[in-house]
Formats: sequence, structure tokens, C-alpha cells
Amino acid sequence: MRFMSFILGLFAAATAAQPAATGPVVRLDGYRVVRVEIESADDVETMLGFGADQWSHHIPVGGSADFMIAPEMVDALDGSGLVYEVAIENVQEAVDAENARLRGGDGGGARGWFADFKRLDEINDYMDVLAAGSPDIAEVVELGMSIQGRPVRGLRITNDAYGEAACKPSVLYNATQHAREWISPMVAMYAADRLLAGYGVDQAMTDLVDRTEILIVPVVNPDGYTYTWTTYRYWRKNRRNNGGGSYGVDLNRNWGYAWGNNNGSSGDKWSDIYRGTAPFSEPETQHLRDWSNSRPRLAAQVDLHSYGQWVLWPWGYTGSQPPYAQTFATLGNEIRQIILSVHNRSYTAGQAYTLLYPVSGGALDWFLGGADAINYTVELRGSDFVLPPNQIIPNGEEVFPALVHFAQWALANRSAPGDFNMDAKIDTLDVLSFLNAWNNNEPRGDFNGDGSINTHDVLAFLNAWNAGC
Ligand SMILES: [Zn+2]
Repeated sequence: MRFMSFILGLFAAATAAQPAATGPVVRLDGYRVVRVEIESADDVETMLGFGADQWSHHIPVGGSADFMIAPEMVDALDGSGLVYEVAIENVQEAVDAENARLRGGDGGGARGWFADFKRLDEINDYMDVLAAGSPDIAEVVELGMSIQGRPVRGLRITNDAYGEAACKPSVLYNATQHAREWISPMVAMYAADRLLAGYGVDQAMTDLVDRTEILIVPVVNPDGYTYTWTTYRYWRKNRRNNGGGSYGVDLNRNWGYAWGNNNGSSGDKWSDIYRGTAPFSEPETQHLRDWSNSRPRLAAQVDLHSYGQWVLWPWGYTGSQPPYAQTFATLGNEIRQIILSVHNRSYTAGQAYTLLYPVSGGALDWFLGGADAINYTVELRGSDFVLPPNQIIPNGEEVFPALVHFAQWALANRSAPGDFNMDAKIDTLDVLSFLNAWNNNEPRGDFNGDGSINTHDVLAFLNAWNAGC
């Protein structure tokens, strides 16, 4: 019951704080962000009933959540009895300050590309620069066009001259399904930049690039992202014309697994969590799905968002245990620990649904339920979607090693079973490597996983080896 009324509250978000679809820049003079103590689902309903724009991706019941409210809502909030503090006094000031800095800046200049946030064309240019700088291991791929005709681009990082493509686990890191989350494409680009810089220098990274295929898509939603730079800084959805003056589908409610489950999405086209007219109705989600389906060994995926510092795993639409529950928990906590170890930033790790409010039609459920990939949603830094540019590099520094660790997990656990030494090819070295493990009673020698190491394992291994990748 608690969740039900909670969900109804989410539906009430409907016409909240919708900016003009077209026309001049949307201003937010006097708009505040308030951090409200949420003691029950009714509190969320109350906020959304005011027409507040929910900024916190995730609302832990019994915690607090951020909402943007229009000046005229303040009296109603004060009268509601809800306990809150003002996190941002005037949202427009934050936007103005960001604008002034970006206009006056040199795009980073001598301080480097990661010194400040970047427009879509700048991100695309830098992807080209990175690919041109590492032509043997990186290429720009166009996954398809957005609804307004902008390419959805990714940097594909792998050494095609090494091993066999069919043997390599594929890993997808994508960002910016939600347009206003500007830190997310920066962290994605940081990861691409560091991975390419590490090739041939760092053995672990070299192995990773040789033996896996990694696709980094910094901006899944190029139309929405562009709109946040030109017109409305806090736009979230894509730019689908829904008719009647309504724009946008929430791409992270449009994925085709348990789509439309009423836990955590909306059928109202004005809602910020509008799921669209059908599963995968949007070209942007279709493109990621199609690339993922085209991979022989899709293994792992991370969806970067902001903000709140969370590491979340499926399911989002139900509290049931996911397949691979133990793997999700172990690896998720390792990711959390790695992030913590860099700059002492604490991210909260857990299953999305049980930790937070429900999400349905999210990427995290499709990548598990529709593509059998281990995946996480990582919410990055910030107490606002607008955040100081000096957060970019530290956020990249703490998340990059976690992404590397996850890709290494994929290599170790999702290589072809016959590729025993995980070098992306099946040859006699795999036989030697297996027999060695088998002889030494190593856990991996129990190839058929029946708890004992015997000749059945040899037969099982040889079958897998024969089958190839
Ligand atoms: Zn998001």
C-alpha cells in the first residue's frame, strides 16, 4: 500500500514545471530547490501535488529528496507542515553563473578539456580527436539518428588485430539518457580518454583493450542535451513532439523490459517520467538496444546519471531477487569501495527497487532481462544538475577505476568458456591452461561446476573448446 500511494504520487507529477516547448530561453527567477524530509509516501504526493519538479532521481522513504519549486508554491509548502531546508535560493542565479562562466571561458584551454562542461559539438569533436589519436584501437561509431536527426555516437575501443571478435566480451558504458545531467557525459569522456591513454602503458589496461570490446556513448540523448544548452537548462527527456504542445519521452522509462509496469513510469505525456507510446518507441533507446543485440558476447553495461552518488542494480520494477543476485551485490559493493578509495566519496549501493522508489522501463532492467548483461546505474556527484566544473576530474578519477574493474570482471567471467586463458582466441594454450588448473585442483578446474574435479570436467572443457567462441 505504501508503494501504491507513492506511485500515485509520481503520477501526480504530470504537468509539473513544464517549460515552454519552443521559443525563448526558459528562466527560473525565484525558483528554489528545497530538500524535503520524506517520512511517508504522502509527503512525496504533497510535493508533486504542488507541481514541484522532482530533482532527486531516487527517493529513499525516510530520507530526504530535492524538489524545484516555483516562487508561488512557497506559501503552500510552508503551510503543508513538511520539514525542509532551502538547498538553492534562486535557481536562475546558478544557471546565470554557469552561463557566464561558460561564455567567458576558453572551454578549458590550457587547463585541459575536462576543466569545464562541454556542448554536444565539443564532445563530438573530442571523440574524433581521441579516435584519431589511437587509430589502431579506437573508432567513432554512429549508432543512428536521434528523433531530430542528430547522430548518437560512441567511441568503440578495442584492438581488432588481437584475437577474434566473437570471443570478446562487449562492455557498454553510456551516459546522458537524461539531458540535464551534465556531469555524466564528462565522466564518460574521461573514461574514454584515460583508457586510451593507458593502452601500451599500463598492462592491465592494454589487456583490457586487446581482449574486450568497450563502447562508450557519452550522449544517448543529443537533442535533449542540446536543448539544455540552448533553451532550458533543466530539461530531462528527449525531444519527441507528443502533440498538444507536449514534448519528450523519458528515455530511461522507454526500454522494453517490463515496460509500462505501473511501478515507476507514467503514461501521461506531460510527465517527466513519460514512458512513450510503446516499448522502444524512441530511436535513441532503439539504437543502444540494436548495438547491444548485435554483439556476440554482450557482458556488461553501466548507465551514468546524476545526481546522488548511488550504485544501483536490477530490478528496478520489482523487489524480487534478480538473476545473478550474488554477483550483483558483490560486484556492486566492489564498485562502491573502489570509488570510495579514490576521494573518500561514499556512494550507496543496492538493488534499485528495494533501496528506492520503483522504476519501470529503465535501461537497467532491459540490460538484464532483455540482454542478459550484468549492469549498474551509477548516479554521479552533485547537489544540483548544475555543479562546479572542478568536480569533473575528481568524479572521473573515482569512477574510472570502477569501470575498469567492471570490464575486468566481464573479461574474467564472460569470455567464451572454451577460451580458458581469456585471450580472445581458442587455441592449444587454452587446453594447457585448463589442464594446469585441473591438475592443481584450482576452483576453475571444476569446469562443469558440479563441486568435484574429475574427468567429467575434462570432457566438458573439451566440448566447450571445440564449440569455439
Ligand atoms: Zn538520470
